[in-house]
Amino acid sequence: MHRTDLPEKTVERTILYKRLLLNLQKSGQQTVFSYQLAQLAGNSAEQVRRDLMQIGFSGNPKKGYVIKDMLNAIEAVLNNPFRQPIILIGVGNLGKAILSYFTYQQPHINIVAAFDRDINKVDRVIAGCRCYSTDAMEEIIVRENVRLAILTVPASHAQEITDRLVYLGIKGILNFAPVPLKVPDTVICEHLDIMLQLEKLAFLTQVK
Ligand code: ATP
Repeated sequence: MHRTDLPEKTVERTILYKRLLLNLQKSGQQTVFSYQLAQLAGNSAEQVRRDLMQIGFSGNPKKGYVIKDMLNAIEAVLNNPFRQPIILIGVGNLGKAILSYFTYQQPHINIVAAFDRDINKVDRVIAGCRCYSTDAMEEIIVRENVRLAILTVPASHAQEITDRLVYLGIKGILNFAPVPLKVPDTVICEHLDIMLQLEKLAFLTQVK
């Protein structure tokens, strides 16, 4: 089942619950009360119960929820990125770091190809991933049925690459380029602007 009608915040919290439940399971716990999960997630027991209701999970809140059952219910709802083919565009310093992270720390994330326009990078395996010319993007996206892309090109090229990705059928973009992107309503773009967030922190923590 793939529920696209869930509110974005519910999806985010559900992903967090999954991570917390897996940790609890690893430490040997088999059941969890909503107030315990709420404490770990930093929200309220009511919120947890509302979220569980939204994903269609009903357990016994008085006895505690069976963690395994809750995880199964969450897995059934979330469209797991672990099985999805993902591409990355822009194998510069940031792109390489992200490729290394996924290849070595998160091997269940399936980056099927990286792309760059620099001929010195094309046709090489970089950080565990084969780098192709951007000319090959269409062929690989279609062949591998890719819907997700990570963007690590410079800001000046981000929109032009995005337009091409959208045209080629990409539905979700994780954008690391320091520029907001314009995408149609049918495409979702998550922006991770590292410099913006760092500047914000520097401002908020400055000594008055
Ligand atoms: P490097 O010095 O290895 O190029 P960098 O991090 O300084 O690394 P950036 O200028 O930030 O490089 O560019 C990131 C990557 O994006 C580079 O590998 C660059 O070749 C690539 N790139 C830039 N423009 C495009 C484009 N239009 N299409 C595909 N890749 C691009």
